[in-house]
Amino acid sequence: MAKVHNFSAGPSILPQEVFQEASQAVLDFNGTGLSILEMSHRSKDFVAVMDEASQLVKDIYSLGDDYEALFLQGGASLGFLMSGYNMMRDNKRPAYITTGAWAKKAFKEAKWLSGAVEVGSSADQNFNYIPKGYAVPSGSDYLHYTSNNTIFGTQFHGVPETDVPLVCDMSSDIFCRELDASKFDLIYAGAQKNMGPAGTTLYIVKKDAIGKSSLDIPTMLDLKTHAASESMFNTPPVFAVYVSMLVLRWIKKTGLSTIGANNQKKADTLYNEIDRNAMFKGTAAKEDRSLMNGCFLLNDGLDESLNQRFLDLCKEANISGIKGHRSVGGFRASMYNALPQQSIDALVEVMKTFESKLG
Ligand SMILES: *Cc1c(COP(=O)(O)O)cnc(C)c1O
Repeated sequence: MAKVHNFSAGPSILPQEVFQEASQAVLDFNGTGLSILEMSHRSKDFVAVMDEASQLVKDIYSLGDDYEALFLQGGASLGFLMSGYNMMRDNKRPAYITTGAWAKKAFKEAKWLSGAVEVGSSADQNFNYIPKGYAVPSGSDYLHYTSNNTIFGTQFHGVPETDVPLVCDMSSDIFCRELDASKFDLIYAGAQKNMGPAGTTLYIVKKDAIGKSSLDIPTMLDLKTHAASESMFNTPPVFAVYVSMLVLRWIKKTGLSTIGANNQKKADTLYNEIDRNAMFKGTAAKEDRSLMNGCFLLNDGLDESLNQRFLDLCKEANISGIKGHRSVGGFRASMYNALPQQSIDALVEVMKTFESKLG
């Protein structure tokens, strides 16, 4: 089978070596004679997987024992609610920056629980930029933001300055470059964009922030429950955690600084071509462009039918997953950690061919 250049927005590309090892574990895990799919999550072999996965997260972000790394379920979509439940303090007025569809959903869940306020938004321009100069009221229970906007292709390139606790949905750019994670009280991320298969959600939480909520929290939504049982309060998604652990090993081995440099190079290659090529225009404000999701449209004045022509050319070149989200249209190249530079180069080739044939 020809190699596919996988630009899927999520679930998305993972390191090839991980697939080899993961498939072996399905057949025979660690020479136990059992598949990882049929053994107890309380077995010594699986407990070691959970412990290692959690430790790798802390190692990669240089976090100490004042943080927990938990592998839970429910996706980032449950994280919208869980983050609110766990981080709410007496004021019950957390602050939200809404920079896209996911950020809006997080804000909506917080409003179930509190008088959450929107302190910054880019809804006025279809979320094509990151708001700046917003003010976070002092006494806000926390500030929540979405570091990378998977759908609209914008990204915060710095951590917001604030003296209230920081909470972040990092689903689509976790581990994409170096980060001072100790600035955060809570980070959560669905695994399926940059860390592993769908089915588990990572919570990185400061131990100090656990058990301080002003709300009564249902058992399964309380981070205290999961921290006390080391992500094993109930049966964890064993395979998703195992594969995430393999990806985390790869991230640690590669190093965040190398990963960050590779991601910057891939993004520069793509955006330089979008800016050079008269057939296309980027959708996001230049300074806020995402390293992970590059969104672009046919340039103004070009015939709409060319959209399909470009998708057809991509298909011929084994480029997959390039169609834009319906709320932006056009094209989206997701460039997660495991996507090689060669795939970006292949896409740029097709963009050039498209220009010379149809421009
Ligand atoms: C994909 C995505 C989500 C939704 O994640 P689920 O795990 O499907 O609930 C939330 N936030 C961001 C930033 C995403 O990219």
